Amino acid sequence: MTGAERVDVAIIGGGQAGACLASRLARRGIEVVVLERSLNWRWHAAGVFSSPAAMDALRRVGVSEEVLARVARPIPALRLETPGGATVGLTYGHDRGGPPAIGFDRSALDPALLELARAAGADVRLGTTVTSVQLGGGRAPAMLTLRTGTGTTTVHARVVIGADGPHSIVAREAGVARPARLATRVGLTHHLADPRADDEPVDGRMQILPDGYVGIAPVPSGRVNIGIVLGRSWRPRLAREGAARVAASIEGTIPATPHDVAPWRGAATCDPIAGASPLGGRVTRRAGLGWFLVGDAAGFLDPFTGEGIHRALVSTELAAAAIRAALTGRSTAAAAADAAGAYDRAMRRRFATKDAVTWLVQAFLARPVLFEYVARRLATRGDARATMGLVMGDLIPASRALDPRLLAAVLAP
Ligand SMILES: Cc1cc2nc3c(=O)[nH]c(=O)nc-3n(C[C@H](O)[C@H](O)[C@H](O)COP(=O)(O)OP(=O)(O)OC[C@H]3O[C@@H](n4cnc5c(N)ncnc54)[C@H](O)[C@@H]3O)c2cc1C
Repeated sequence: MTGAERVDVAIIGGGQAGACLASRLARRGIEVVVLERSLNWRWHAAGVFSSPAAMDALRRVGVSEEVLARVARPIPALRLETPGGATVGLTYGHDRGGPPAIGFDRSALDPALLELARAAGADVRLGTTVTSVQLGGGRAPAMLTLRTGTGTTTVHARVVIGADGPHSIVAREAGVARPARLATRVGLTHHLADPRADDEPVDGRMQILPDGYVGIAPVPSGRVNIGIVLGRSWRPRLAREGAARVAASIEGTIPATPHDVAPWRGAATCDPIAGASPLGGRVTRRAGLGWFLVGDAAGFLDPFTGEGIHRALVSTELAAAAIRAALTGRSTAAAAADAAGAYDRAMRRRFATKDAVTWLVQAFLARPVLFEYVARRLATRGDARATMGLVMGDLIPASRALDPRLLAAVLAP
């Protein structure tokens, strides 16, 4: 091991999850390096829409109000629109006095989070790709091979973190990565110019398509983010016409509504379409001896319910506590095992019921007639709609959505 660099914690991935975890650990005096393959921020397939819970999570990690005001645009409601004409407005508690949902400017938020990590003392290395990871199994440090603009180097880390998105190299190496259970879908996303002023209240939209959906979220700097998710039946058309033409054609069919006159339709595109497929992924465990997974690397189901950002932020809170315990324990192997188990259980406790609700939503989404029925019921039942919005936004326990009274209000004829 002579000559190789040694660190306490190596975080692979400088996205939201990696940056926030780095801030939390570095602030506690733990030596952290963040290894991020991109040299500069660029738009990649990712989400921008989130419930107010994400704003609170960002405050808890130390993001200032001044930065939040710059990176976040309030969204009064998300309007779910079905092919049959039902519209369900989800306000995430904003209509009852709570804060609004948010559209994030990722080109401002993500670099701000990395800056916060640097300021906390983390060593952030951009343009550094981790090409292989050998886990130490609790007996030895993990060994990471890094490729930079100037060559290849090796780092040994007591704890290695996979914050590298749904196709995590750490999850693969630990043998816990599994394909997503949902059928393979394609996500296409970019931004379009929108002439409306940033302080003009503009609702988000989620329009259901045959075998897919499209989300439209206003974000800062006069833009809307378009996120299109397409199922298997779209594949021949995507192969024939290409992603950009299919996206433009879908965008052209989205009607103007009283809440969105759609001035972005046909407007200039602000960045090339970024695609992702398969969307999401699954892991059988989120931590083991000397390794942890956070953010999408710890499992991501589907963008429909828009919970990825908030979940990623919460995972860093839970992981930070466990990693600190692992590093300060007296017996390395025992402390590492306890910390890994504690984190895995904490994530399960926090998200298992929400996952069940998300699966229920997906089951309805896969059956258009049923989905239409439920949407019409929710459109006319204010209390049930409000509860569903709060559950989707991680603002109340997800078990409230499985309450028989709520299910009866939504499902009973
Ligand atoms: C199409 C789509 C739509 C979405 N819509 C929503 C939504 O509306 N609302 C919502 O809340 N969430 C949504 N999400 C999910 C959301 O984007 C993520 O949950 C969130 O960004 C958390 O990201 P992360 O930090 O875990 O991963 P990422 O943001 O993917 O960051 C991972 C980082 O790791 C780096 N990396 C990867 N491999 C390596 C390597 N080997 N070496 C070095 N660096 C590496 C990458 O460059 C990247 O910067 C969506 C996701 C997709 C794909």
